Amino acid sequence: MAKKKQNKRAPKLKFSNKWAYSAAPESTDHIELKEKYDLFINGKFVKPNSKKYFTTINPATEKKIASVAEANESDVDKAVKAARKAYDNTWSKMPGKERGKYLYRIARMIQERAREFSVIESMDGGKPIRESRDVDVPLAAAHFFYYAGWADKLNYAFPGVHPRSMGVAGQIIPWNFPLLMAAWKIAPALAAGNTVVLKPAETTPLTALKLAELIQEAELPDGIVNIITGAGRTGAAITAHPQLNKIAFTGSTDVGKIIQNALAGTDKKYTLELGGKAANIIFEDASIDMAVEGIINGIFFNQGHVCCAGSRLLVQESVAEEVIHKLKERMETLVVGDPLDKNTDVGAINSKEQLKKIKSLVKIGINEGGNCYQSSCSVPAKGFWFKPTIFTDVAQSSTIVQEEIFGPVLAIQTFRTVEEAIEKANNTPYGLSGGVWTDKGSKIFNVTGKLKAGVMWANTFNKFDPTSPFGGYKESGVGREGGLHGLSAYVHV
Ligand code: NAP
Ligand code: MG
Repeated sequence: MAKKKQNKRAPKLKFSNKWAYSAAPESTDHIELKEKYDLFINGKFVKPNSKKYFTTINPATEKKIASVAEANESDVDKAVKAARKAYDNTWSKMPGKERGKYLYRIARMIQERAREFSVIESMDGGKPIRESRDVDVPLAAAHFFYYAGWADKLNYAFPGVHPRSMGVAGQIIPWNFPLLMAAWKIAPALAAGNTVVLKPAETTPLTALKLAELIQEAELPDGIVNIITGAGRTGAAITAHPQLNKIAFTGSTDVGKIIQNALAGTDKKYTLELGGKAANIIFEDASIDMAVEGIINGIFFNQGHVCCAGSRLLVQESVAEEVIHKLKERMETLVVGDPLDKNTDVGAINSKEQLKKIKSLVKIGINEGGNCYQSSCSVPAKGFWFKPTIFTDVAQSSTIVQEEIFGPVLAIQTFRTVEEAIEKANNTPYGLSGGVWTDKGSKIFNVTGKLKAGVMWANTFNKFDPTSPFGGYKESGVGREGGLHGLSAYVHV
């Protein structure tokens, strides 16, 4: 950033001492994990026809947690056939009121076992226990509760159009919110009377498999939910299966395009929830401290492994110096490390591959002339870590302004007028989410109405609720999840 007159509101750059917290690790004594997991097909755990297993590790320690079955085409076929049979014979015939009871039961059981789910989520994926405990698991239960309520009210949800279930849905989810994404997919599908075959991501299969155990305990009739594990090939076999009626995918834009190509010309319905490059816009009239906290939460929350992460900041020039100073100061107080420690703000990067991708994009950012600043924290020797990072002096055309990094990296630009902010915010291939920070309600309505993003927050960020639809424009995807929109993606009207 060019040297400018010191902003009077900006205090002198002096970082507060980091508070030293004592370690407060969450206990792992109460969790039950098997050494080896098979495929959950037709209500039972069965050995894969492929005879293959892969390893899932804890990205904070690089230690193996469990072996997990790798489903091949014939395993996928077996799961689809089980789901079809369950659809034809059981689920499509069951009254909505009865379907709803099962969903309520699953929701309550997730709540009962919340602690176990949270710990396993943090171990398998690297996210701080505070997030898995306070965000992922409660929201997963909330989605089951919410859609349970619709199961016997589909005619009220879609009045006058005789909503009908679609049949069998193939569902493929990413690693950033493993249990929550499974809930987003399974709950509306089941509420609307469909059966499912779900594949979690290769690096984070464990909470989906624990959910399979829970579903078994809930005595959901066999075959209604089938959970099969594997890598990209397993996902491709799901999308290619001719007997599926619907594909629901959440993941990267690149894979989303492959799936869209594979589905072209078939009669399968689909929804694609893809990448994002959200801009948070801070106007000079905003409450700066509140905005800074929101920006920090928006990008460093879950290590930036959030499709709707506020990975860009647009700040009005008059307050830019103050905001950037405060951001740096706050970054110094972030606790980076053990995901199971209750004080941890920023956990481990999900995988070695993701860490490599983040590092390479940051390198590109520096090579393209960006000014890179990283928190001075230390990180553990073992495991995959990336320090909270911000970039200033980036152009609209910079790679790190245009491309999703999916890591704790924030690109900061400045603007002078409302029009310039909107123009810059909209100028990426994505359109998933965005944030506006201002004291003026009229400005919120003006700006949010002109931003091409599916989800907008004002004076807050990354807030989710099962009643709100979620999804994007442009390369961020097709269709919506959550709320009635999410339910409508699973019915014919
Ligand atoms: P990804 O690489 O696209 O993988 C997503 C899922 O697709 C995984 O289960 C993956 O299996 C599977 N897959 C890979 N190749 C496939 C293929 N050819 N056909 C079918 N399935 C295939 O994405 P990710 O890295 O796991 O997740 C990060 C991305 O998800 C980011 O771009 C993020 O923005 C996006 N996301 C979007 C939303 C939203 O609601 N818009 C929410 C969360 C995340 P493997 O894991 O084994 O590769
Ligand atoms: Mg793992």
